[in-house]
Amino acid sequence: MATTTMETLAIKTENKFRTLTTKQAYKKGDVICEMPSENITDKPNRFTVQISKDKHTHVGKLAALNHSCDPNVILETDKMVMIARRDIEKGEELSFFYPSTEWEMAAPFICLCGSANCIHVVAGARFLPLSTLETHYLNSHIRETITDLLKNTKGHLKKLSEA
Ligand SMILES: [Zn+2]
Repeated sequence: MATTTMETLAIKTENKFRTLTTKQAYKKGDVICEMPSENITDKPNRFTVQISKDKHTHVGKLAALNHSCDPNVILETDKMVMIARRDIEKGEELSFFYPSTEWEMAAPFICLCGSANCIHVVAGARFLPLSTLETHYLNSHIRETITDLLKNTKGHLKKLSEA
């Protein structure tokens, strides 16, 4: 059964830099908590996560989740849950891959996660090549947006070849 509370999560602040850590260990695939959905907006900001093509939800404590290009959690927006991507130790910082939910972010930044597959500029899925995106977990609204774009591109190419 899914844990509905976020009691197992703690926000740590160091030099104004916030991190979200876990007070307990998780196994890969465990549901860590549900994502809040009481406060939905049509524009992204630093405290929201995109959950469909035109909806962004304020995520409360989960806004302290930092980005990583090799993250340990997944935000699954169809089921509105946060899931362990691999085994997680007690006290570990939690992170997710922002472009897995965000098409175009309100506040892009440079990633210094140091992982071998670091994307460096974190601005949303829109700004990443398909070859990079396909190596990551992506939510359905991101996959659908990409598919729509590709269909449009095909249309443009057809017009070009007919010109
Ligand atoms: Zn990175």
